[in-house]
Amino acid sequence: MRIPLIAANWKMNKTTEETRDFIINFVPHVQNLTGVEILIAPPFTSLAVAAKFLKGTGIKLGAQNLFYEKSGAYTGEISPLMIKDCGCEYVIVGHSERRQYFNETDEIINKKLRAAQETGLSVILCIGERLEERERGQTFHVLEKQLSKGIEGAKASQLVIAYEPVWAIGTGKTATLEQISEAHGFIRNVLKDLLKEEANHVRILYGGSVNADNAKDILNTKDVDGALVGGASLKPESFIKIVMAKGVKK
Ligand code: PEP
Repeated sequence: MRIPLIAANWKMNKTTEETRDFIINFVPHVQNLTGVEILIAPPFTSLAVAAKFLKGTGIKLGAQNLFYEKSGAYTGEISPLMIKDCGCEYVIVGHSERRQYFNETDEIINKKLRAAQETGLSVILCIGERLEERERGQTFHVLEKQLSKGIEGAKASQLVIAYEPVWAIGTGKTATLEQISEAHGFIRNVLKDLLKEEANHVRILYGGSVNADNAKDILNTKDVDGALVGGASLKPESFIKIVMAKGVKK
């Protein structure tokens, strides 16, 4: 049984004070829910304050990136252990913004994934095609490549995949339920080929302009095990509605 995961990716948003205010507002509405796991991934600078205010709530904490070395002369980088030390259980790897703006390749992403898992962190690996790749009919080819290279040597028990069509991220243009179902079915089959029985542990999230209005339909689509939410996770009101689209009060 895979428990749906609803994850907030705050990207480069919120100061420590804004993080604290969000959590104080958000938590009372989503405590004592069953049927859903909630994760917040604030910027590095807010991890400590988020850990403090999430303590005892059952809501998980994640980072948005990491570097794969354990320590040393890597100015500006953050190690897997530092992230774990802040109270994180998850880390996002391979987000399309990191692939696009920071030139992260599948090889770098795989190094980050392995280093994170070795440290005991669970990894949300983001994969997804760009608009021109979809228009050229290359969607499955791109997904298979990013997935097979990205999860080489991965532990299935610490792995979550996020299918995020790049053209749907931050654009307000959500993929149709048919497109989502087709891509998730394909990813599930590739996972079965690569990980055999173990693939059953791996959740596949959808990400790309999920909001309070479309969350229910998306989260109830076949092969969708949760959502990775950017813009609509920045306000407690909309993120509460997305979580409540799947969570049930105890
Ligand atoms: C994301 O950044 O992972 C994302 C899905 O963003 P948005 O929900 O804003 O499209």
